[in-house]
Amino acid sequence: PAVPELEALQYADVAALLPVPGASSDKYRRGVVGIAAGSARYPGAAVLAVAGALRSGAGAVRYVGPAADAVIARFPEALVHAGPPSRAGRVQAWVVGPGLGDDAHGREQLRDVLAADVPVLVDADGLRLADPEVVRARTAPTLLTPHAGEAAALLGVERSEVEAGRLAAVRRLAAEYRAAVLLKGATTLVAGPEGGPVRVNPTGTSWLATAGSGDVLAGLAGALLAAGLTAVDAGSVGAYLHGLAARLAAQGAPVGAQDVAAAIPAAWRDVRG
Ligand code: AMP
Ligand code: MG
Repeated sequence: PAVPELEALQYADVAALLPVPGASSDKYRRGVVGIAAGSARYPGAAVLAVAGALRSGAGAVRYVGPAADAVIARFPEALVHAGPPSRAGRVQAWVVGPGLGDDAHGREQLRDVLAADVPVLVDADGLRLADPEVVRARTAPTLLTPHAGEAAALLGVERSEVEAGRLAAVRRLAAEYRAAVLLKGATTLVAGPEGGPVRVNPTGTSWLATAGSGDVLAGLAGALLAAGLTAVDAGSVGAYLHGLAARLAAQGAPVGAQDVAAAIPAAWRDVRG
């Protein structure tokens, strides 16, 4: 029989993959997610990525970067650090890039995170700054989360070419970067580095087309990586919960990225119910 090119995760698949803590679990077993994001210019991206991670089952969220004051003011449960990511202490998966900026500090943060031997999600400015050779050489899993414009830059093609062939683009990116790739947009696709069917997310809603919603997704999927999901599962379960959270928050009316983050537990409940 022909191998399908696309597959969609269903409720039951997602429910089975949600990391629900056992009775004797602890915060380290649930997973510590590190967030290297934000800059003096874009502190909000850090806050939104932390917001996504805190609602997504992580045992703890460590934030590293210049937006620590903004993060702590909004989320006292976050752990914040001033130094480089490699000095932040125990982290089971990193999220790097939202609002990071492209100055020397951003580049240094990215280099440090990509050198860590744990799963890493790279988004936004992290995608712009990442050295393809460094990404390819990583032995721990990598999840790239570009929108069409970022994907085009990674492939060295025009955005229109990605839009016209999203399936080919996500596959090519995964193969070229030896990473799982979540291609965001009206239809979100997730491809693994080994080829095989590409997952298409069934829950999206165009209410997600709002500033900061991608930062929430980065934190959400990062927490799933820290909980031990594979990069492809973290990406596809993350996209699923993100879309469902937006639908539940929006109910047919506009929402902001913070509202989407706040609705992640409702999406989780909906899947498990
Ligand atoms: P970003 O491009 O990083 O700001 O992320 C935007 C988020 O919104 C991603 O999760 C996209 O998949 C989602 N999104 C953007 N436009 C649409 C759309 N028209 N329909 C559904 N989801 C969308
Ligand atoms: Mg973005």
